[in-house]
Amino acid sequence: MTDDPVRWPPPDLDFNKPTIARAYDVLLGGKDNFEADRVLAQYAIANIPGLQESALENRKVLVRGVRFLAEEAGIDQFLDLGSGLPTQENTHEVAQACNPDAKVVYVDIDPLVGVHGRALLANNANTKVVVGDVREPDAIMAEDAVSGFLDFDRPVGLMFVGMLHYLDFEIAHGVVGKWRDALAPGSYLFMTSLVDTGLPAQQELARITKENLEEGYARTPEQIEEHFGDFELVEPGVVYTALWRPDGPVDAENLSPGEQLGMAGIALKKR
Ligand code: SAM
Repeated sequence: MTDDPVRWPPPDLDFNKPTIARAYDVLLGGKDNFEADRVLAQYAIANIPGLQESALENRKVLVRGVRFLAEEAGIDQFLDLGSGLPTQENTHEVAQACNPDAKVVYVDIDPLVGVHGRALLANNANTKVVVGDVREPDAIMAEDAVSGFLDFDRPVGLMFVGMLHYLDFEIAHGVVGKWRDALAPGSYLFMTSLVDTGLPAQQELARITKENLEEGYARTPEQIEEHFGDFELVEPGVVYTALWRPDGPVDAENLSPGEQLGMAGIALKKR
């Protein structure tokens, strides 16, 4: 785990092996990806109806969720775990548009996220990037850019957006549980995940992910809710991402295939 200055190329960068962050960047129409990522993304797009739409829906709910946390819930510190490569409307942009003093720490396992993130954020004193593995919460918490920067005696917005489904349920549950315990009352947990509501495309996406990116799991809505523990879900609970406090009308009875790949929820730690 590092918070080093920008170095290129990062020592553990392998151009020939796709990564989650870079393949997701392809789905979002980004440019921070290599041939191997594009080949995998095209294969997945060809097999999963609505995959790109689902990635875009995930970004949209991230924006709505962060806006809710910063504006309505008054959260001014965010820890974004599995943050991905910088793209449009990053967490810090949304949070700091609501509150310029909001602090944001990005954590991701992909070394390219560290390189791009630090270059992008060099002039933003309220935002930090850490390269680390969310399966090691103690190591992440020990980072100066995390515990020396965010105040865990005050409420934090903890985000696992579009990343929990890369962890086996038990591991994810243990990791999220550790973070739930570490948070002060008034904190929020914001999660989105690939969901399993019985549609074949959901398990197919999990299979493609697992076979090509080492890990991939589709969670039932009940399993996603279980990750929230005794935190209190805010309305509308755990729902398809397009239905989580949409900006405009959405026909819940006629969701597109892409709108049925992921679910989102936000919950409050009351005590
Ligand atoms: N949170 C962003 C979003 O929702 O738009 C990015 C989601 S992207 C699909 C998942 C991210 O999780 C990738 O950037 C990947 O590198 C990261 N990731 C996967 N496993 C991880 C782990 N064990 N530790 C840290 N990051 C991880």
